[in-house]
Amino acid sequence: MDEQTKEIRKAYEVEKKARKELERLDRAKDQFIMATQHHLRTPLTSMRGYLDLLLDGSYGKVPKRIGEILKKFETSTKNEVRVVNELLDISQFQLGKEVVNLQENISIETILKEVIEEFQLETEKKNIYLKLEKPEKPFPQIKADPQKLKVALFNVVDNGIKYTKQGGVTIKIKKEQVPRKREQKPKIKIIIQDTGIGIAKEEIDNLFIRTFERGETAEKLWGPGKGIGLFLANQIIKAHQGKIWAESEGKNKGSTFFVELPIS
Ligand code: ADP
Repeated sequence: MDEQTKEIRKAYEVEKKARKELERLDRAKDQFIMATQHHLRTPLTSMRGYLDLLLDGSYGKVPKRIGEILKKFETSTKNEVRVVNELLDISQFQLGKEVVNLQENISIETILKEVIEEFQLETEKKNIYLKLEKPEKPFPQIKADPQKLKVALFNVVDNGIKYTKQGGVTIKIKKEQVPRKREQKPKIKIIIQDTGIGIAKEEIDNLFIRTFERGETAEKLWGPGKGIGLFLANQIIKAHQGKIWAESEGKNKGSTFFVELPIS
């Protein structure tokens, strides 16, 4: 064997070892995620189940005061389940796994109505509005993963409500005009506009691409946040071949989030 062949063989062996090591690490990460899923999500789900049973009186009549506390318990547990699921989704995306499961004939209007329903109590409590402007009919259906898309839109609407003290959030859905270039596909656009604290220009793009990234104002004045919602929303929308971005005139001038999705 000549020197050159020996060198190539050596390099090949080194590469093979490194690849094996990476595969081992990848498996270890997968196992970690599975364990997290099991140890965090399973008990939470069972807690929620028992809370539901307690609340609907399956274990006897619940005094009003205790019922109120159980309701708070239930809200926290629900939020925790959501956070655990979001963190798991983020890890899956980071591992390059297929997270979205696209299905035909999904109605974006139905998903948005479900999202809005989840915020009914909160908007009433904050005394702000949350409305969906009626789209033109018939509105096209799209190819999407309804659960994941709901998570993405939920996060954007959740922020709109969280960072708005007066006024509220308006959601519009539009069909984009027939594209001029033939290779471009027709799209729908979801616009989520709030009258809240706004976002500084220099912060706007990073919110989607970094985990745990939060705006300065949000950090200082608006209490706890996780800084994962928009990162996850971006991953989900990208997996739908779509785009998400935000615009704001600046601090206290409200924010508008845009989500563009191809029509199958
Ligand atoms: P979180 O809201 O939990 O901090 P997100 O990833 O959902 O995390 O959002 C990241 C940051 O983007 C927020 O901390 C906030 O600074 C900013 N942000 C997102 N949505 C809005 C909004 N509607 N108005 C003002 N700031 C926003």
